[in-house]
Amino acid sequence: MSAKGQAARKSEGRPVRFSDVVGHARAVAWLRRALASGRAGGAYLFYGPPGVGKGTLALAFAAALTCPHRTDEQEACGRCGGCRAAARGQHPDITWIEPHSEAGNVTIEQIRDLRAHLSLSAGASGWKVAIIDRAERMTLQAANALLKTLEEPAGQAVLVLLAGELALVPETIQSRCLRFYLAPVPVSDLVRELEARLGLPPEEARARAALAGGCPGRALAGMEGVTARRKAALGWMQEALDAPAREVDRLAKAADQADLAQVDETLSAMIWLWRDVAAWSWTKRPDLMINSDLRDHLAPIGQKVAPEKAVSALEALLGARRMVSEYTSRRLTLNWAWMTLRSALKAEKGPVTLAARSG
Ligand SMILES: [Zn+2]
Repeated sequence: MSAKGQAARKSEGRPVRFSDVVGHARAVAWLRRALASGRAGGAYLFYGPPGVGKGTLALAFAAALTCPHRTDEQEACGRCGGCRAAARGQHPDITWIEPHSEAGNVTIEQIRDLRAHLSLSAGASGWKVAIIDRAERMTLQAANALLKTLEEPAGQAVLVLLAGELALVPETIQSRCLRFYLAPVPVSDLVRELEARLGLPPEEARARAALAGGCPGRALAGMEGVTARRKAALGWMQEALDAPAREVDRLAKAADQADLAQVDETLSAMIWLWRDVAAWSWTKRPDLMINSDLRDHLAPIGQKVAPEKAVSALEALLGARRMVSEYTSRRLTLNWAWMTLRSALKAEKGPVTLAARSG
């Protein structure tokens, strides 16, 4: 599949402008200033959890760079032929690359094609943009080939690397890029966006925003995704609490081999389920539960856990989510988080349904 074909899939035919980006105001402001100054060239690295908006920001930047009718606010016009092509993922000067080999890697052939593409002359704007999604999945050979491109920048070319795990991007590449960390977007901002864009009732907007873990892509994706994530998270939680102690490592090992996006999504959903456990433990107030439909699962756990323990377990989950995106010791991190959940329950007298089989 051609790189352009991949872009078509990614941008889903939607105009991509800075005003489409949810959150990340500082990065957007920085990029607008770079565009205004005419010195936007070079290499960028956007990193942060899956679904946080790295791709949307990169496409908005690319569209603004290549639009010949950019507004005074440094925004793509959204109406010209170039902008329409960009929205369809068919702009000749915007290339989107993502892992597509059998092993799920970005290969040296893809980087060679990219180098050839960047060496061609650009259209009306003079700019050529290449976006490399999941740059941490470059093979060593691909990374070395990319390094050459970074060392001999070609005219008005812009490279934007996207990565979930910064530590997995080779230092030599990191050091040649302007790095932007895209942090999870605050829940209150997501709620506002969901209400404004989709006209959701406040309760659904709040639940969706909360369960999206600060990732607009997930919040906008719909309730089906939310239901699936909660189901997976509840499954993980129950397994971690139910299984004999020696089984916890087996669970962590399985999660270690799963896709980072999936682990991150499930962990962030677990955080919001456990948040309800903690809310129940402190207040016993059903109106404070976000996952009110799961109250029959969550309240009995909250009933058995001391409030202080519930909060430490919540902190452990929050820490685990941060650590799985930043480090590679996912298995160790998850072991630790799950043991903290178990100890929150075990400290109390009497068995909890969920923990009935724990050793
Ligand atoms: Zn335009």
